[in-house]
Amino acid sequence: MLSPRQLFLQHQAQTTDFPLLLEVERAEGVYMYGPNGERYLDLISGIGVSNVGHRHPRVLQAIQGQLEKYLHLMVYGEIVQAPPAQLAHALAQTLPAGLDNVYFVSSGSEAVEGACKLAKRFTGRTELVAFENAYHGSTQGSLSLNGSESFKRAFRPLLPDVRHIRHNQVEDLAQITSRTAAVILETVQGEAGVRVPSVDYLQALQARCKEVGALLILDEIQSGFGRTGTFWAFEQFGVVPDILTCAKGMGGGMPIGAFISRQEIMHSLKNDPMLGHITTFGGHPVSCAASLATLQVIQEEELLLQVNAKAARFKERLVHPAIKEIRNLGLMMAVEFDSFDILKPIIDNAILKGALTDWFLFCDKSMRIAPPLTITFPEIDEACDIILAAIAEEVR
Ligand code: PMP
Repeated sequence: MLSPRQLFLQHQAQTTDFPLLLEVERAEGVYMYGPNGERYLDLISGIGVSNVGHRHPRVLQAIQGQLEKYLHLMVYGEIVQAPPAQLAHALAQTLPAGLDNVYFVSSGSEAVEGACKLAKRFTGRTELVAFENAYHGSTQGSLSLNGSESFKRAFRPLLPDVRHIRHNQVEDLAQITSRTAAVILETVQGEAGVRVPSVDYLQALQARCKEVGALLILDEIQSGFGRTGTFWAFEQFGVVPDILTCAKGMGGGMPIGAFISRQEIMHSLKNDPMLGHITTFGGHPVSCAASLATLQVIQEEELLLQVNAKAARFKERLVHPAIKEIRNLGLMMAVEFDSFDILKPIIDNAILKGALTDWFLFCDKSMRIAPPLTITFPEIDEACDIILAAIAEEVR
């Protein structure tokens, strides 16, 4: 009988030269547990997914409750089902007035696909503007928006009429014109290594979009659901998107995504020809029940209140000459070293010592720190002790 690790290597498509290769049997709160009693403090939350921790009891209860009723009934948007209806209402309550029409999908990439189709349909324009070092997904449309040429080269031709501009550079805003259907921006760029735009820049971007009639799509797939200290990161910049995308942390560990907009914009999906976007599993009732519970946990346990203090504790403790800079908005953090060659052994060593971190797709010299928001101060101290010990052993 082959072990799960052998089966994984033999039969599961491998996607990276450096798979973490941890074997995990169980996860609870901020910890994952291996088959031989290993314990790992999870500092990445499955890339911003487990914001309320692994297997939060409220989320499990919601899933179990829905399992008793039904699983899948019909493709999206045909049958009235309480979980997506109630979740759409709860999401609207977290958003500025008017941003209250939700289309549920099953992943982040699909949310981006839907948002871009919606913008094209509504404006009747074709051009999409995205940013250097952006990451919006892996399907061919979302891939076209990514700002890293090395990820796209092998798959051309991709979507035509996509323009990339520099992040946080007001001069480039003039390239957004009356031809532009939408500008898509991660409110905080994630895979670029946590790049936070200035408030002035985001406001100027929104003003430019309004001036030329382009829609502003904010991608909060990584930064949403409390990760940055407010429920949505855009709340900290005094802007409001025309279309918002979310996924990842939204499901509390279940797969779900959404694009959200105003009624009059979303309505264009219904115009001739009908069915502007179709999904079989979007708005899956079990995922929606889990997502509603996740949203309630963030609010009722007041998880947002301590996000900045927790981030500050990491920053106070993670001081070492090898650490060049820490960028963050809330608990979306990047700890920068001089190179991947320095960082990689530190990450490997930290895993052996029981703390799981990794690096960013487009910034391999920065360590990702994005723990569950439920992490406690003693657990943060444990994480920092491990990282500092790993640095001490690996940096000479
Ligand atoms: N947008 C952003 C900002 C992301 O971080 C990601 C995932 N890393 C995606 C889109 C794509 O999400 P998914 O992997 O669920 O398709």
